[in-house]
Amino acid sequence: MPELAEVEWYRKQWNPGLGKEIVALRLHARNRVFRGTNTKKLQGNLVGEQLLRSTTRGKRMLFKFSGDNWLGIHLGMTGKIRVEPANFRPNKHDHLVLYQRERALLFTDSRQFGRVRFHHSSDEPDWWKSDSPEIISREFDQKFVDQFLDRHRKAPIKAVLLLQNGFPGIGNWMADEVLWRAKILPLRRAEKLRHRERAALLRAAKFVAKKSLETLGRDYSDLPRLWLIHQRWKRDGICPKHRTPLRHATIGGRTTAWCPKCQQ
Ligand SMILES: [Zn+2]
Repeated sequence: MPELAEVEWYRKQWNPGLGKEIVALRLHARNRVFRGTNTKKLQGNLVGEQLLRSTTRGKRMLFKFSGDNWLGIHLGMTGKIRVEPANFRPNKHDHLVLYQRERALLFTDSRQFGRVRFHHSSDEPDWWKSDSPEIISREFDQKFVDQFLDRHRKAPIKAVLLLQNGFPGIGNWMADEVLWRAKILPLRRAEKLRHRERAALLRAAKFVAKKSLETLGRDYSDLPRLWLIHQRWKRDGICPKHRTPLRHATIGGRTTAWCPKCQQ
């Protein structure tokens, strides 16, 4: 499932189409990815308009078009954004194709947990608004993290890290990476974390978010060699620090990996 940095990378795939007009559009109106979206309105409004800019918030993307038109995309589990030549013919999983004269901008999603939303107004869509600061922003500070942990004090810290209104963009692999770096056992309840552990959690979250944006998010290049991600899926995965075999369990519904020596 795409997390913070992967979402940022996908967002940029439509950049070649910035400033260019949408001349035609094809979509699968009945597909689940358009749940709650008026596809007729989407179609009627976007054709003739230009793609102006885009941004991400956690795992969500927002594309702004001329004429006060907005397109929100969530990749879900298998969603992808890409560009094809202008004569591209959509396949079964290509639920939205925006044709420009020079190219086609696609949203593809085989499992359809992703979502496409449309909004027509001079104001940002309501569904885009958020009270949770981005992890790399200054507003994401110790006070915010402490308050969020206090609101979820009985939950295992791994499950808390997966909550998008507290840690926007963090998914399964990033959560494990953060906890490994902060030396916190994923099963610990949020209320059990000491002050210095909460500080380590904040530092690790910012570091993992920033570093993954600078690699994966920039050009899909590899994450640093000594990160947990390179070991966590392996049956015989080891701690990158001292080669202790990793442990695995399901926490918060997700397969979790940790080092029994580093994390307490
Ligand atoms: Zn270790």
